[in-house]
Amino acid sequence: MGVVWNEQDCLDADPFAGDFGDGEVLLSDKIVTAGKRHANVCNICGGSIEQGERHRARVEVWNGRCVTTRFCPQCCAAMAISFEDDGRAWEARVNLHREARP
Ligand SMILES: [Zn+2]
Repeated sequence: MGVVWNEQDCLDADPFAGDFGDGEVLLSDKIVTAGKRHANVCNICGGSIEQGERHRARVEVWNGRCVTTRFCPQCCAAMAISFEDDGRAWEARVNLHREARP
C-alpha cells in the first residue's frame, strides 16, 4: 500500500481555492492517521481511506455544524505535487469522481 508524498506540500495546497464565502470557519487542517476505515469519503475522488493510512483531514464549522472533510492518500499526493504539475494530477482525481457519478 501507499504512495509517498510530502505532507507539508499537501497542506500548502488549498482544496477549496476560490470556493469560500459561505461563512465556514476552519478549526483544523492537518495530516492524520486513519483510526478506522473511512469508506467513500474522499472530497476529491470519492474514494475510501483505509485504517492506518496517512491522509489530510480538515475540520470546519458550516452553519453551526462541525464537518470533517477528508482526502485519500492518492489525492493528497496529487495535491502535494500540484505546485509542480500545475494541478494536472489533482484535476485527474477530480475527474475520477465525476466519472463515478454521471
Ligand atoms: Zn481521493
